[in-house]
Amino acid sequence: MTAKPLENRIALVTGASRGIGKEVAKALAAAGAHVIALARTQGGLEELDDEIKALGGSATLVPLDLTDFDALDRLGYSINERWGRLDILVGNAGVLGPISPLNHIDQKPFERVFAVNVTANFRLIRSLDPLLRQSDAGRAIFITSSAGSNTYAYWGCYGASKAALDVMVRDWAEEIRNITKVKAMLVNPGRTRTKMRAEAAPGEDPATLPSPAEIAPFIVEMAGPNWQETGRLFDFPTRKVLDFQRPA
Ligand code: NAP
Repeated sequence: MTAKPLENRIALVTGASRGIGKEVAKALAAAGAHVIALARTQGGLEELDDEIKALGGSATLVPLDLTDFDALDRLGYSINERWGRLDILVGNAGVLGPISPLNHIDQKPFERVFAVNVTANFRLIRSLDPLLRQSDAGRAIFITSSAGSNTYAYWGCYGASKAALDVMVRDWAEEIRNITKVKAMLVNPGRTRTKMRAEAAPGEDPATLPSPAEIAPFIVEMAGPNWQETGRLFDFPTRKVLDFQRPA
């Protein structure tokens, strides 16, 4: 029997209760990784667990709100105690927040978007960077959006959070480029058939959109030891690894 490509690797996936994160978690488990699945919705995580078991894989469920930042430090300690390393981090969880003229947005929902989309990923990097370095091929992948590098009226809150995520991950990738084996990538999934997209574009026919399962194999590839790109963006709609454009 041939070994699975991610056999014995430990992978944390945030936002694993539905949508893109759930499909990525299943694909990583099917490729042999043990998946640490994080989200708030216990029921969604349990469904995922059943589906992973049916694929012959294994998971550890972490029902947690990512804005409980200190719990992310405790998660790091627990992963260290149990495995002594982390091979794969998929920072997928995100929220859309208000799609609205900026001057109509209250500060609280604005800050909530930044807490989930930016600060939680910062706290994950801070807590898990040492464990990714313990891996022989640590791989971190963060799900961003075209809204982080384009201008769309009414998307300023979400777009600004994704722009912040992009710069943070690229800067971290630069910090660790020459001194660790860790690679850090951003992924733009493009419009995908999930709850978030239905919220963003209620008039759109979901049947016209790619399913979240379609992007999962690409993320599995980026999670493996053979992946060598870092600090770049994988754009799923064009299937290309892109550099960021600098101002002239
Ligand atoms: P989704 O179906 O709404 O799923 C979002 C996931 O994030 C859920 O599992 C949710 O779990 C989790 N989450 C949200 N807030 C959380 C919190 N405070 N603590 C823990 N988990 C939390 O969205 P999706 O479309 O799959 O989005 C996945 C990623 O792709 C996001 O980063 C999104 O910005 C990005 N993206 C999506 C599209 C698209 O068209 N779908 C396009 C571009 C980028 P719980 O609710 O159970 O906590």
